[in-house]
Amino acid sequence: MQVLEVKAKSALNRSGMVELDYAFNAYLGCAHGCRYCYAADITPGESAETWGETVRVRVNIIELLQREIKSMRRGLVGISTITDPYQPIEAKYRLSRQAISLLLANGFRVSIQTKSPLVLRDLDILRERKRLDAGVSLATPDSQISRLIDRKSPLPEARIRTMRELTRNSVKTWMFMGPIIPGINDSGDSIEALISLAAELKIRVIYDLLNPYSGAKSMLGDSLGPGWLSSMMGLDRRKWWEKVESTILRVAREYNVKCNSEASELSAETGLLYKQLF
Ligand code: SF4
Repeated sequence: MQVLEVKAKSALNRSGMVELDYAFNAYLGCAHGCRYCYAADITPGESAETWGETVRVRVNIIELLQREIKSMRRGLVGISTITDPYQPIEAKYRLSRQAISLLLANGFRVSIQTKSPLVLRDLDILRERKRLDAGVSLATPDSQISRLIDRKSPLPEARIRTMRELTRNSVKTWMFMGPIIPGINDSGDSIEALISLAAELKIRVIYDLLNPYSGAKSMLGDSLGPGWLSSMMGLDRRKWWEKVESTILRVAREYNVKCNSEASELSAETGLLYKQLF
C-alpha cells in the first residue's frame, strides 16, 4: 500500500449526513478497501480500480483544526465520513486521536465510526465522555463473507471484541449494521446474530442498505462473481428492502434493541434508496 503525505486546505467540512454538522477526515483513501465503499466514488484522486491501495495523510490537518475551531459554531463532528479514522496508518500519525482531544476540549461533540480495534488505544480520552459516541461497523458475523466484502478490514471477531471493550469502558457505543447487500448478508439469521449481540451489549443499532454507487457495484461484482451479478438483474429493490427492513424491525422488537435506519435520510438526500442496483 502506498502512503502519500499531502496538505489539506481545511480541517472541518460541512457533512453531507444530516445528523452531523461537520466531517473530519485526516486521511483520504482507506487501507481497508471495502468493496461496497461509497467513498471510492467521492474521494478526490480515488477510483474503484485502485480503492484501498493508496492512503493520503493530510499532515497539516491538526494545525488547520486548531485555527478553524476558534471561530466555528460548536456542533457534532463525524470522525470520519469518507475513511476509517483508525485504519492502520493512524497508529503512526495519531491524527484522529489529536483531533478528538482538541474538539472535546473546545466544546464540540464527536461521533466516531470505525471497524478497527485501534480505537481502543485511545480509551484514555474516550471513556466516560458525555459529548462523544463511538460506532463500530459490522455487516456480517461471518468471517468468510467479511473477507469478500470488507476485504482488508479487521475480522468480525475483532470488531465484536472492540464493541465489548468500548462498552466495558463506559464509552457510548453503537453498532452500524450495514450495508445490507442482497443475497449476501440479508438473511434472518445474519440479522438476528447482530441484533442479539447489540442486545447483549445494550447498545443501539443503525442500519443501512447497499446504495448503488457505480464504484461499489463494480467492486462487488468483481468480488462476488457472475452468479451474484446475474441474481441482481431484475431484483425489485423496493420489495427486497421492505422485506429485509421488516425482518430487522421484528427482530429488534423481540430483543428490545433500539434500531434506526440511515436509509430514509440517505433517500431524502440522494434519491438513491429505491434506484435499481443493475
Ligand atoms: S472502512 Fe469504511 S471508509 Fe474504509 S473502505 Fe471500509 S467502508 Fe470505506
